[in-house]
Amino acid sequence: MGMFDTFYGEVKCPYCNEIHEFEEQTKSYDCSMSGLLLGDYIDKGNTNYIYDFNLYCEKTNQKFRIGIAIRRGQIVKYLVEDEIKSTDIMELENIEDGIGKRLQYEKVCREANGYPKEELSYELNPLINGYKFIAFDVEWEVVRLYRTNDLFASGYIEYFYEIKSKKHGLRIMRSSDVYGNIEIRTLELANKYKELYFDKEEGE
Ligand SMILES: [Zn+2]
Repeated sequence: MGMFDTFYGEVKCPYCNEIHEFEEQTKSYDCSMSGLLLGDYIDKGNTNYIYDFNLYCEKTNQKFRIGIAIRRGQIVKYLVEDEIKSTDIMELENIEDGIGKRLQYEKVCREANGYPKEELSYELNPLINGYKFIAFDVEWEVVRLYRTNDLFASGYIEYFYEIKSKKHGLRIMRSSDVYGNIEIRTLELANKYKELYFDKEEGE
């Protein structure tokens, strides 16, 4: 109940010609709260069809149609408006398996903003100042632990650190047993979601 999956992608807008990101929830698949990206195999091997829905231009508020082309069960292309009718799905080729997730992770690594593949055991908390570890393929050093949070008052403690690396400078890191391993965020993003990162420090 209430479960779904979400298509994530970007298309060129027919109204303003800029690239718009889209998120479209669907109940047509596993409903396992997965992100469905370009290159993902999401349906049975021989299925070929176009899944379409509306998107609104962020600038002009005009509505247009997006089609997600699914070839042999794989998301192979995003179509816009007339392309949906003019595309012969059987002529589309399959593409690199998981290319969307690979590109997304490369972006996360470039910006050092997200969930690294490397792990850092929760049991090591609290990390001492100067503790060194690898994430996003570079070395980081703990600057300081600045906050702990008893999540849902349940005894699960989240630890919030300032960390730094030569390549990326200062970042915020959350270490939690609940949301998987570690999460690293830019200060810009941390400032945007103050309730996540700073609520115990504001106004004190
Ligand atoms: Zn637009």
